[in-house]
Amino acid sequence: EAPATGKASTRFDLEKETELRFEVESGEAAEQVELELLTGMAEVFGSELNRNKKYTFGPGSKIAVFTWQGCSVNLFGKPEVAYVSKDTPMLLYLNTHAALEQMRKQAERDNERGPRVMVVGPTDVGKSTVCRLLLSYAVRVGRRPTLVELDVGQSGVSVPGTVSALCIERPADVEEGFSVQAPLVYHFGSTTPGTNIKLYNKLTSRLAEVFSQRCEVNRKASVGGCIINTCGWVKGSGYQALVHCASAFEVDVVLVLDHERLYNELKRDLPHFVRVVLLPKSGGVVERSKECRRDTRDEKIREYFYGFRGVSFYPFSFEVRFSDVRIYKIGAPSIPDSCLPLGMSQDDTQLKMVPVTPGRDLTYHVLSVSSAEDGEEGARKDIVESPVCGFIVVTYVDTQTQVMKVLSPAPRPLPRHTLLIMDIRFMDMK
Ligand code: ATP
Repeated sequence: EAPATGKASTRFDLEKETELRFEVESGEAAEQVELELLTGMAEVFGSELNRNKKYTFGPGSKIAVFTWQGCSVNLFGKPEVAYVSKDTPMLLYLNTHAALEQMRKQAERDNERGPRVMVVGPTDVGKSTVCRLLLSYAVRVGRRPTLVELDVGQSGVSVPGTVSALCIERPADVEEGFSVQAPLVYHFGSTTPGTNIKLYNKLTSRLAEVFSQRCEVNRKASVGGCIINTCGWVKGSGYQALVHCASAFEVDVVLVLDHERLYNELKRDLPHFVRVVLLPKSGGVVERSKECRRDTRDEKIREYFYGFRGVSFYPFSFEVRFSDVRIYKIGAPSIPDSCLPLGMSQDDTQLKMVPVTPGRDLTYHVLSVSSAEDGEEGARKDIVESPVCGFIVVTYVDTQTQVMKVLSPAPRPLPRHTLLIMDIRFMDMK
């Protein structure tokens, strides 16, 4: 049926308000799957498909093709699974979008700010997907919402270990997601907020501040509001971090996916004017194993250096003298209160810039290049709250000659000389 690719094809006829779910096998050797819309209209996570265009999905992709009116599509290749489901929460998600759009209209009329929305829930309930959907719908009706990415484990915007904000100007690309141009990125340094909750909360506040400043000078951004994606850690300090985020951003709406207790707790603990809404998760969301998450993180870093699909980047490798850079880790190991020097609190230790002496154990670590000016000691405090301008990976350390080799997206020299070390490592297997 498909002589062009030579791949077997399967046709699916979808009734209105149903979706075709399919997964592409994971692993290097896995075959890609192509999707083509033949008749009718359909969308993938809020982005409309063009007819007679082939969309390619790589290993590990988990996709839903939803149709409001009915359509028929072809799949080329051998997906791991492919089935049609009539049972989706899409109507509820669309209604949520409609309610947010009402709030934007009202904000426009009354010269106020648009909705600030926080999406919460445990892991694997489709938080990122709901964010993407709501952002794409908003931008399709002409809004300019902002995505705030607080999921340090699986960031949709930058490499893992960061928090960020991105202005959304067009719907997500069906294959590649949102175009990531000029995001605002901050260094966190690890894949779970628990490693340094003080820093995590500090960065959340910082992002809220910067977003609010932007809203003051940009009316479209203000009316568009923001959609905040959060981590799946919803207990203990993880829960406190959500409450902190709600207050830092002064959120108006919290969407709780599939977690009744969390919904009740937030209703109890957030101010009464915050609308807390419980939404079901989609049955299509696939649980991901630890390995799968690690692979996705690795892939994100690889993309940063080598590009994605059609776009290839060619990273540089060069030597950096220890004496030319200052490497810090944010946060000293916590010590019992009784041992703290007089006048110092635990907060201070978690936000402290601890100088790192380069050694062999630095190999493979990802380092953020801070945009902070290469100032003197006094400037150290600003470093935590300065955005990063890029990332490098240490590929080799020579303690004898006091030099390390790094992988960098840009040629030497480094734009700045303050480097922040991440817990995250990347082994370049290319
Ligand atoms: P995390 O725990 O990492 O925060 P999450 O709750 O944000 O996860 P998503 O990343 O949104 O979850 O979704 C998990 C996976 O399920 C993704 O690969 C996504 O493409 C897929 N997925 C989401 N919705 C559907 C659906 N309706 N049908 C098929 N796959 C889906």
